[in-house]
Amino acid sequence: METSPNILVGILSKKSISFYLSGKYRVNNSETTLFGNVQAQINRNSIQISNSEIKLDFKNEVVLLPCAISSDYFELKDVTIGIDFHWEQKEDQKFQGALKLLINDDNIEVINIIPIENYLASVISSEMNANSSLNLLKAHAIISRSWIIAQIEKQKKAVNEKAFSENSQKPDSEGEIINWYDRKDHQNYLVCADDHCQRYQGITRSHNANVIKAIRETQGQILKYDNEVCDTRYSKSCGGVSESYKNCWETIDYPYLTSVVDNKENDKNILPKLTNEENAIKWINSSPKAFCDTTDKKILSQVLNDYDVETGNSFRWKIEYSQKEIAEIINEKSNMDFGQIIDLIPVERGDSARLIKLKIVGTKKTLTIGKELEIRKWLSKSHLYSSAITIEKQNLKNNIPEQFIIKGAGWGHGVGLCQIGAAVMGEKGYSHTEILNHYYKGAVVENYY
Ligand SMILES: [Zn+2]
Ligand SMILES: [Zn+2]
Repeated sequence: METSPNILVGILSKKSISFYLSGKYRVNNSETTLFGNVQAQINRNSIQISNSEIKLDFKNEVVLLPCAISSDYFELKDVTIGIDFHWEQKEDQKFQGALKLLINDDNIEVINIIPIENYLASVISSEMNANSSLNLLKAHAIISRSWIIAQIEKQKKAVNEKAFSENSQKPDSEGEIINWYDRKDHQNYLVCADDHCQRYQGITRSHNANVIKAIRETQGQILKYDNEVCDTRYSKSCGGVSESYKNCWETIDYPYLTSVVDNKENDKNILPKLTNEENAIKWINSSPKAFCDTTDKKILSQVLNDYDVETGNSFRWKIEYSQKEIAEIINEKSNMDFGQIIDLIPVERGDSARLIKLKIVGTKKTLTIGKELEIRKWLSKSHLYSSAITIEKQNLKNNIPEQFIIKGAGWGHGVGLCQIGAAVMGEKGYSHTEILNHYYKGAVVENYY
């Protein structure tokens, strides 16, 4: 068994940094200590650290270690949070553990070195609501831990790295644009503090007592399949059936990330194949029995923010576009000129009825695109909830529809755990292992340390 690791989290990158050290911090494990308000900036090729008393220069990098590990913290000034979101703002953030500074591309990268269990307490506290069931929190603790351990394992191997995207703006030899996007690895640290990896704000906000309990009770536990740490994907709502990994990212089969019917009564055999167009349309227009079919605000608030709880149903939803709207969106997102949109034709669907390929027929251009995220990007100003959609054309004039009505199921890629479904399962009294076994078929909970 491994020992509980420390992890490196990239917080920010700036020309100069101001921070406050609450206690004494040893500089690079030496006898020199620093405390109070400190400045760091680049001075030629070194990092210069100064306070009112001293000025120190370090080549490339420096690590500041707290003398009292459990009580000391450092506070970073003016950290930008919610980058590119409407609520983007600056705040001072507090962190426990060590502070590492290094030079990268003429900036100082600020890295927090922290025990993994403390990191998990922070990320799950900021992601999950305080009133979530302990079952849900424990399931989430295990998948967050598995995800981070899988990143560590990947970093150890460092060879044969999984591709992180296939991304082209030009049609391939088949005349199609089939793109997918996965998370790109970081160079100088394991994970960043933003939504790109998992949002991490140190000890800035108080930690949720239930989260601490869930983490303590699952300490060191991860999900494994075939002796490999699982790549524990999850999304907001599967829409009744989860999707297979290969239909959203690289074409690889992960047996524990294949399609699962999101209830406990339906056997997969009963469900018609949703890769079939007729079945898919019926499915999206029906309301099948599923854990994620809930409008209970108390449960939804466990995994959604307030704004999204109020937005309405993500299990089955509907949007309408005028010809002008859809043409503008597609022409802008594609950076191409399709002219007016004549048709949007489903070409290929995955196991959850999510579109993997969609043919766009315009007056000036016709093109097939995929995979699911690319389709969601091209059909909405932000992102379409999901690509499990049916498309109806209305009021044809000279073969050109005046309206498109899109009906959809679910929210997100739909692979792995369905967060809304898992929240409902937790409320119904299913244990965290039952929840995990339901969504990740054949995976087992094991102690990593
Ligand atoms: Zn990241
Ligand atoms: Zn679901």
